[in-house]
Amino acid sequence: MLNSNEYTDIAQKVDQGIRLTREDGIRLFHCNDIAWLGALADSVRKKKCGDIVYYNVNCHVNLTNICTSHCKFCAFGRDKDDAGAYEMTKEKALSVVEDALHDPNLAGLHVVSGLHPTWSFEDYLGIVKAIHEKYPQLYIKGFTGVEITHFAQISGLSIKEVLTRLKEEAGLQAIAGGGAEILSDRVRNQLCPKKATADQWLEVARTAHLMGIKTNASMLYGHIETIEERVDHLLKLRSLQDETGGFQTFICFPFLPKNTELGQKIKQTSMWDDLRTMAISRLMLDNFMNIKAYWVMLTVPVAQIALGFGANDIDGTIHKETILHDAGATSPTALSEDSIIRIIREAGRIPAACDCNFNILRKFE
Ligand code: SF4
Repeated sequence: MLNSNEYTDIAQKVDQGIRLTREDGIRLFHCNDIAWLGALADSVRKKKCGDIVYYNVNCHVNLTNICTSHCKFCAFGRDKDDAGAYEMTKEKALSVVEDALHDPNLAGLHVVSGLHPTWSFEDYLGIVKAIHEKYPQLYIKGFTGVEITHFAQISGLSIKEVLTRLKEEAGLQAIAGGGAEILSDRVRNQLCPKKATADQWLEVARTAHLMGIKTNASMLYGHIETIEERVDHLLKLRSLQDETGGFQTFICFPFLPKNTELGQKIKQTSMWDDLRTMAISRLMLDNFMNIKAYWVMLTVPVAQIALGFGANDIDGTIHKETILHDAGATSPTALSEDSIIRIIREAGRIPAACDCNFNILRKFE
C-alpha cells in the first residue's frame, strides 16, 4: 500500500476499492506529495484498465467559429464580422475530410463548432450528413451537450429527437465531451451565461445514454472555480455514471488564457496542478474506465507524464487543431501516429488505436 503520512486513510480506501468522499477529494487537492498522488492514481489505472493506452487516428472538423455564446474563456468563437470568422460550406467540410484521408489509417472525425446565429439545425445536420454519405467508413463523434441543447432550442425538437436525427441521418456514433466546463451555476453564470446550464448539459448526456449513445465528459479548470467546485463537478459526473454507465472517457482541460476575455486576469495552470488534477480525477471517478491526457492542452511532454498519473487515453492525431491554438496552445496542431506510438511506448505502455467507442482497431504489443 502506498503511504503519504497524512493520507494513509485515503490510501487504504483506494487499496480496498472503497469510494472516496467529497471531503477526501478536497483533501487530496491540498496534498503536496505529487509523486505519491501520481503513484496512487497509477495503481488504480493499472488495476482497472491494464497497460493499454488508447488513441484515435482522427481529424477535427470545426464547421464554424461564429458563435453567439461569447464564453469568457473561449478564444475560438467570433462574431460574424470579426477577423478570422468562418463558416464552412458542405464542399469545404468535405474537402477537409478528403485532405485528412491522405492518412490511410484515418478512422473517424471529431466534429464540434460554434453556435451560429443564423444556421438552423438542418444546416449543421446537412453538412455532417453529406460527410457521412460520402465517407461512411469514418466514425463520427461530435457535438457537445452545449451544441445539442442549442439545436433543440433553435429547432423546437426535443433532445431525444435531435439525437435521433443525428444518429439516423448523419451517422453520429458518440458525443464529444466538451461544454461541461465546471458544472456549477455560479461559475456558468459568470463565464458562459448564454449557453446550456449544468443541468441541461447533464440532461443531454443522460438522454443519449438512455438511447444507447455513448458520450464523454470533461472539466475545464484553472479559472474562477474553487477546489470544492472541481470536486463537486467530478461528483456530478460520477453520480450520472452510476445511473447510466454511458460515459466513456473523462478529459481534464486546463484553461488556456491567451486571447480570451478572462485571460487578462488569470494565469495559466502549472504542470503541478495539471498532474494533480489528473490523478485526483482518476481517484474520484471510480466508475469511469478511461481518463484522457489531452496532449493539445497539456502539451505533449506533460501528457506523456500524465500517463503515470492515472491516464490511459491520449486522444488522437487530430490532423489540424484550431480551437485551442486560438487560445495560445503551444503544442503542435497535429501528431503523427508514429509519434503517438513512440510517446506511449516510452512510458512503458501498449499503444492501441481505437474508434470513438473504444473498440480496438490495431494494437502494438
Ligand atoms: S466555448 Fe463554444 S459556445 Fe462558448 S464561445 Fe467558444 S465556441 Fe461558443
